[in-house]
Amino acid sequence: MPEEPLYPGKDWQDRLIGWYNQDHRDLPWRRTRDPYRIWVSEIMLQQTRVEAVIGYYRRFMEDFPDVESLAEAPLDRVLKDWEGLGYYSRARNLHKAARQIVDMGGFPETYEEIRSLSGIGDYTAGAVWSIAYNRPAAAVDGNVLRVISRLYAYGEDILEPTARRQITGWVTEHIPPGTSYEEGPCAYTQALMELGAMVCVPKNPRCEKCPLKGDCRALAEGVVKTLPVRKKQKAQKMISRYIALIERKQPGSGRRETLMHRRDEKGLLGGLWEYPGVDASSPEEMRQAFSKEWGLEIRPVGFLFETEHVFTHRHWKMQVYEALPEKEPPDSDRWCWADVDRQAEMMIPTAFRKIQEYLAEPEQLRLV
Ligand code: SF4
Repeated sequence: MPEEPLYPGKDWQDRLIGWYNQDHRDLPWRRTRDPYRIWVSEIMLQQTRVEAVIGYYRRFMEDFPDVESLAEAPLDRVLKDWEGLGYYSRARNLHKAARQIVDMGGFPETYEEIRSLSGIGDYTAGAVWSIAYNRPAAAVDGNVLRVISRLYAYGEDILEPTARRQITGWVTEHIPPGTSYEEGPCAYTQALMELGAMVCVPKNPRCEKCPLKGDCRALAEGVVKTLPVRKKQKAQKMISRYIALIERKQPGSGRRETLMHRRDEKGLLGGLWEYPGVDASSPEEMRQAFSKEWGLEIRPVGFLFETEHVFTHRHWKMQVYEALPEKEPPDSDRWCWADVDRQAEMMIPTAFRKIQEYLAEPEQLRLV
């Protein structure tokens, strides 16, 4: 008979769930079993800290209390609620999936149907199915990868698909059969997430407080600090952007308006409004790129200021120029003139916040 491995102990999930039931955070999405609400919270929590999500979640639920109200709302209203939360494709997919759900006649109840919705991958499908329906599915995100790789002292690169499969296998093997939400898959999924968020954190995990300290192979072998193993992240790409503030006086009222551009639906900041800009390294290159990319003839007349924004894999260094239009912008719904009040209503990503503030109070910024 092969010997049972010492670590982790066979029933570690029982100790984990016992700890969770005694000691977990009271979060708004933990007070419901409504799959719609759990789904929205899971989408908001992707790449975003819990503290940042709580306020957005509450407002979203006030504005769109059920899947029907979300499906009926215009996309711009949904994006407006999302403003500042980042990764806007999440909001667009949420809106699209809400319409799919209404077409299905209600929130789906099988894993496969949930997984087929727009913007839902293995992780979210597993999370919604296990948390809302207490059904057996693994939900493996970055937190869970870290916890399990330490628990098993797993020394492979966790970003590799084979590692994810292995870890998902261990998580799945230990899904408890309990039929109550407090003992079954619902509690297990949330307990793993909670342990990763509160105890088995990336730096300085609180092993002395961990319900799995007697199970943890990394702790027993003294290798906690080396886990999880990750290959080097790609370096952030620095991009030089030239932004043109093109202004005119509103016919009639004489108010100042700025030319705005709606970005392509696909790609970075897809579908959002921006102060038009191009990758360039001089005002002359900017002028040529505006003409080539959009058929927009402009004349840069003065440098205003520099600003920057860091995305996950790129870093925009933006030179903001005042520019004059040499002819009218293309007649398309991708372009519009907007005064500062209208800009405040538009979905403009935080990358452009400093520019928006400048236009609202240009003198103040110049004094800084
Ligand atoms: S004992 Fe430490 S390393 Fe192991 S699971 Fe708990 S917190 Fe993580």
